[in-house]
Amino acid sequence: MQETNTVIPLREHHDTDFGEPRRFKVYTARQLDKIEPLQRLDEEARFAMDVVASVLPFRVNEYVIEELIDWDKVPDDPIYQLTFPQKGMLAPEHFERVADAMRSGDKDTLNQAIAEVREALNPHPAGQMEHNIPQVDGERINGLQHKYDETVLFFPSQGQVCHSYCTFCFRWAQFIGDNDLKIAAKEAGQLKKYIQAHPEITDVLITGGDPLVMKTKNLRAHIEPLLELEQLRTIRIGSKALTFWPYRFVSDNDAADLLDLFREVTAAGKHLALMAHYNHWKELEPSIAREAIRRVRATGAQIRAQGPLLAHINDNADDWARLWQSQVELGVVPYYMFVERDTGARHYFEVPLAKAWHIYRDAMKQVSGLARTARGPSMSSHPGKVEIQGITEIHGEKVFVLRFIQGRNPDWVQRPFFAKYNDEATWLNHLEPAFGEDKFFFEDELAAMGG
Ligand SMILES: *Cc1c(COP(=O)(O)O)cnc(C)c1O
Ligand code: SF4
Repeated sequence: MQETNTVIPLREHHDTDFGEPRRFKVYTARQLDKIEPLQRLDEEARFAMDVVASVLPFRVNEYVIEELIDWDKVPDDPIYQLTFPQKGMLAPEHFERVADAMRSGDKDTLNQAIAEVREALNPHPAGQMEHNIPQVDGERINGLQHKYDETVLFFPSQGQVCHSYCTFCFRWAQFIGDNDLKIAAKEAGQLKKYIQAHPEITDVLITGGDPLVMKTKNLRAHIEPLLELEQLRTIRIGSKALTFWPYRFVSDNDAADLLDLFREVTAAGKHLALMAHYNHWKELEPSIAREAIRRVRATGAQIRAQGPLLAHINDNADDWARLWQSQVELGVVPYYMFVERDTGARHYFEVPLAKAWHIYRDAMKQVSGLARTARGPSMSSHPGKVEIQGITEIHGEKVFVLRFIQGRNPDWVQRPFFAKYNDEATWLNHLEPAFGEDKFFFEDELAAMGG
């Protein structure tokens, strides 16, 4: 991956010659003025983009700019909303604070304003920093997270960026250069040791950032030792490279080596799941994106798709139905529809839970059973992954029917429970128990676990 920055012209969409390597060119907040198609924005809009990009991470590559965004549809284009900062992503008072500081021209004032606004944006949702951090021999391992028995998450330190950044990313705090906030493992050996000490673990989820920004040889150094572990049945890799940089699987220098590594994993008898992050069917349209899927599947790896439901990007049933249907046709299994988490620019992207469920249901109604495999809408909250199963009326009370898909206590899984209907709620903590009960069934136990 080589990074260069030059002014790029808009090109015609064309069928890519898969044999020809494409250079990876990326733009960050400091290079906004070098992105040619942005020059059509007026000065005020560009200033607003500078303000937001100083608070939230910004990084976009040339493939996304040229092949995924339809610049005639800007600002409504979903991939533009997915990758480019918009004024509304900061609350008006936060925006004004940083805008004033930027106009003042004083660096310290600006840095102070940026730091305060970031802190106000709940950088560590669901207790990510305090909870779920495992220990080996009494020592905390920062690069691991173990919340649900069967799956341990691993954040290799070289994989803590992405080929582009999503404006809504719940891991945004990892990308803003604050080392305290990063969860990154320096040593592969600790992961193996930890797994061996925990026989309940069957799955490793390698995540980031995007672990596929790593060179194959680094990824191999993490994965190969795991293949010797009998207890490990599945290796998952969480990635948005199929969207943001499909060349990773096709024409990058070490693309063939990556696919060989995937074959090695399946040949060792493990299930390899590429957990692909998709938000919109447009990500699946370019021929290079389809070629990448085809090559990954040819290794024996399975691709499962997940992503959040987001205002301004995909908050309608037709787009979800088309996304799931396209996935099935390409051999990708729809897996999760998430609710946007309570962090970062959530107020811009959030969708009320009631609306989210209607979108999910209306999308399901449009597709055959093969495309109805996505669970959701699901909230990755502190007590667990909570799915909105439906909205109904029981003895005259309108309620949400909920269930745990995953729980901090595995015994909570699949138990239905009920919350008072609330058409504005966007997260679990806005919900109250139904039927006059004073708490949800899991609350005492959760408190006993340390909150
Ligand atoms: C979602 C998630 C998992 C995996 O859950 P599955 O339902 O098995 O896909 C594991 N750990 C954490 C922290 C998660 O959020
Ligand atoms: S690809 Fe994933 S980790 Fe990277 S910015 Fe997007 S949501 Fe965040």
